[in-house]
Amino acid sequence: MTDNSAVTVLGLGPMGRALASAFAAAGHPTTVWNRTPGKAGGLAVTEASTAAEAVAAGPLVVVCVLDYDAVDAILDSAADALKGRTVVNLTADSPDRARRTADWAAARGIDYLDGAIMTPTVTIGGPDAVLLYSGPQHLYDDHAPALAALGGTASHLGEDPGRAAAYDVALLGIFWTAMTGIMHAFALAKAENIAAADLAGFARGITDLLSPSLDDLAANVDSGNHPGTFSNITSAAATLEHIVHVSEQHGIDAGPVEAARAIARRAIADGHGGDDFSRITDTLLSRAKGHLTT
Ligand code: NDP
Repeated sequence: MTDNSAVTVLGLGPMGRALASAFAAAGHPTTVWNRTPGKAGGLAVTEASTAAEAVAAGPLVVVCVLDYDAVDAILDSAADALKGRTVVNLTADSPDRARRTADWAAARGIDYLDGAIMTPTVTIGGPDAVLLYSGPQHLYDDHAPALAALGGTASHLGEDPGRAAAYDVALLGIFWTAMTGIMHAFALAKAENIAAADLAGFARGITDLLSPSLDDLAANVDSGNHPGTFSNITSAAATLEHIVHVSEQHGIDAGPVEAARAIARRAIADGHGGDDFSRITDTLLSRAKGHLTT
């Protein structure tokens, strides 16, 4: 007899441990498995010796490991035991991989939801956690009460299993390009004998400018109107030119800024120099396969 409130967590990296801990804390009997045994120390869980054994403990199986190669290997090893159960895959990867794993599951009678975790381990189980899900609505509705143990805000983004991963990669693109920009700024500052700590307060002023502009930028992108009333791409390109120049003077890798300059130059060459920077999205999309720009 399986306990309907039981949850299985496959993978006990930092995130898998946080997930297992949150399920256990919310009162779900939690069974775990990890490729390398002995990682369940300090958790109020049962450690199984194989993935298949762990899966047999209950109807809901959460997998969270390094990438989808690892996911596929683990699920494959437990495919028979997974039949009739629901896998919620919280591993980060691409939309394409999510869709392929969903197809693999469907062919084996395994219910499948994909998901993405947008916040660090310490948030899991608390109010600040942000989780995205996609896949069949009825599966999400069935398991949302158990998944609520992970805390915070959970959003079901649609039936396409790749949709959560699509949001994830787009959002992580913001994070990592911004992080690279911040590190480049610190490198420039250091080269000019400015301590990173001295720049940080002013840097915060810059990053604070971004968040309030998101809705206006998105409205421009969705409407296709990019009025360059307050600033335009030609002006932005001139600034990017200065940053590349100073980076090169100091022998600093200007790559992150060169990439931005190249895109701005392309928009200008296409005749959009007078448009708002939001036009850059169209410039990026203009080479996308199958995308029609207006
Ligand atoms: P990792 O991404 O380092 O994943 C470690 C886990 O993957 C371990 O359980 C490891 O097992 C397992 N693993 C790796 N390769 C294989 C394999 N070939 N077969 C079986 N298991 C394998 O750590 P996290 O827990 O931090 O991340 C898990 C997922 O969560 C990732 O997709 C990550 O992007 C996402 N995430 C993590 C966040 C975080 O703050 N940590 C935040 C948001 C999302 P073993 O112990 O045996 O090596």
